[in-house]
Amino acid sequence: MSSSSAPENANVGCVGPASQEAGKSSACAGCPNQTTCASGAFNSPEAIAKKQHEASVLQNALSDVSHVVLVLSGKGGVGKSTVSTQIAQSLSSRGYSVGLLDVDICGPSIPRMAGVIGQTVHQSAQGWQPVYANPNLAVMSISFLLEEGDAAVVWRGPRKNGLIKQFLTETDWGDDGLDYLIVDTPPGTSDEHISIVQYLNDARPMMVNGSNNSGASGAIVVTTPEEMSMADVRKELNFCKKTDVPVLGIVENMSGLQVKVSDLQFRRDDASDCTDDVIALLREKCPEVLSMTASTDVFATSGLGPKGMAERFKCPYLGKLPLDKNLLKACEEGSSFVENYPESPAASPLNKIVDSLILALPVEDDIDDVAMEGSGDDT
Ligand code: ADP
Repeated sequence: MSSSSAPENANVGCVGPASQEAGKSSACAGCPNQTTCASGAFNSPEAIAKKQHEASVLQNALSDVSHVVLVLSGKGGVGKSTVSTQIAQSLSSRGYSVGLLDVDICGPSIPRMAGVIGQTVHQSAQGWQPVYANPNLAVMSISFLLEEGDAAVVWRGPRKNGLIKQFLTETDWGDDGLDYLIVDTPPGTSDEHISIVQYLNDARPMMVNGSNNSGASGAIVVTTPEEMSMADVRKELNFCKKTDVPVLGIVENMSGLQVKVSDLQFRRDDASDCTDDVIALLREKCPEVLSMTASTDVFATSGLGPKGMAERFKCPYLGKLPLDKNLLKACEEGSSFVENYPESPAASPLNKIVDSLILALPVEDDIDDVAMEGSGDDT
């Protein structure tokens, strides 16, 4: 991965402006900073002081955040924002203090999904005040800064990176900090991803644990089961490997459609609706079928599917989230899916994904609880 002192728009593999190789290494070819680096300008005392100041501002801003989780996907429309929002909703309803940061700058959908559309953030002495979807869930999104919620955001790289940095440094997540900051990133692997990881590395150098020297605690990668999405996700997994971001797991979304038989609609060959007749017949002849769930695959699974891909990349497979109309409904309503539709087909898999996340990234109170249980001290 690039040096953490790399300029924001540096090539991947940047050796850092302070290196002897600055401007000369093979990674420098085509980098917009090559000439400046070779001249040593980035290495001046002023430039170094500026960089150190920026790093300390970042460290300060995120010092009270226990875990930063990036949610990634290879391409758009596979359910990344849905998974980000519903994980955040679920964690917050379990009592954790959660921040949901929408840096999918070109397609911010989090405010709608979190039920805070049309709100605006306020600037205070402490920084930008996020919008609270509930007392435990603070949301920050580019769309809060736009006058028109539907306005297209067409920004060039440096401006986007500047905004991401501002989000990370200037959002006031509250006096008590956060247990989890869930970051909904743009699809694919772009400059923004590299910037986020670099900013987090600058912000949280103390997070070094074992071989992980990334400021992000980990990434959840969302994919649908067909090759078109998986091919892009492989790039995402390689990005995590190169940048030392631990992959917390792969979520296979929209894997099959599951519907309660009582909610199905039936049609005759001529397409006329016969739902009432079929439901009446089932109620008379085999009522137990009405409470069963019908399922069918929608996307053709490619090869061994996301599970096989997880094995190949030696990362956890977090399970399948089926297409579930109530999940879509919860996102449209801006409500917590697992709380409002606990019996719906995707609720149990989503709960398991959240369980796995908490297990992989426990917060201090949970660690204390486990220690107490282990000590046999029941006073
Ligand atoms: P992305 O962030 O990857 O672009 P979204 O999360 O915006 O994708 O999802 C696209 C649409 O699909 C949204 O309307 C969302 O509510 C819906 N959706 C995502 N996953 C599911 C699912 N498992 N069941 C039903 N609808 C889903």
